[in-house]
Amino acid sequence: MARDALGTSVSAPPRLLVPGVPLEAGREIVLPDEEARHLRVSRVAPGEELVLLDGRGARASARLAASGRAAVVTALLPVHGEPDRRATVLLGVGELARIEWAVEKGTECGAAAFVLVTAARSQRAHVAAATARIGRLRRIAAAAVKQCDRSVVPEVAVPAPLVGLLDGRVGRLLVARPGAAPLTADRLPAGDLTVAIGPEGGFDEAEERLLAAAGAVPFSLGGRILRLETAVVAALVRLVDAPSS
Ligand code: SAM
Repeated sequence: MARDALGTSVSAPPRLLVPGVPLEAGREIVLPDEEARHLRVSRVAPGEELVLLDGRGARASARLAASGRAAVVTALLPVHGEPDRRATVLLGVGELARIEWAVEKGTECGAAAFVLVTAARSQRAHVAAATARIGRLRRIAAAAVKQCDRSVVPEVAVPAPLVGLLDGRVGRLLVARPGAAPLTADRLPAGDLTVAIGPEGGFDEAEERLLAAAGAVPFSLGGRILRLETAVVAALVRLVDAPSS
């Protein structure tokens, strides 16, 4: 780990995910194989400081044990990097590479969850790929949480049709739609949100009717048509940390 002239560590301690393990001061925690391997490759030495995350909001500082395969919790830490409001992304499935990019960057931008939508204009091959690689998409979200110093790993739900998803949505519903009115502060609802973003061909008329019937507020992301993954980032930047009236 890099140190300054006085020997003080100048880089942040590595952040590791230890899901399902209670973080309590003094507790020795066996690290998941992948995390222990990452520390070995990064040449983190026994005794060095780590930050442990359970992926659900608990954080603790810890020291790497002599074996290199466990860490001893030294203190609990406050939640870090989580937005005040939950913004769930309902995302029409497109090419897998675009969905991967959207999950990684959307996690960095503060998405609380990604719900993949088998939209009418989603290609079957893309839906099959996203379904088969759901584990990889969840690992991408977890890696992004560590990288960007968040505390909670967003859920990534397997693709499902829009019709069954709207009843269970969290908070007010918005839909990103080219040509709609922009999202000025007075149109931004307070509290938690779900934002729908269409697949490459956009939502079809039946899906737009479903969204309208569910009370979705349409909003524009500007005068250019964005790829779905760009739209995820542009929407979250507008929604997640913006104060509402
Ligand atoms: N051909 C589609 C259309 O014109 O609606 C474009 C689909 S776009 C590639 C994918 C999704 O990103 C859209 O369904 C919409 O949700 C969102 N999007 C892209 N550009 C947008 C913009 N300028 N304003 C609002 N939403 C946008």
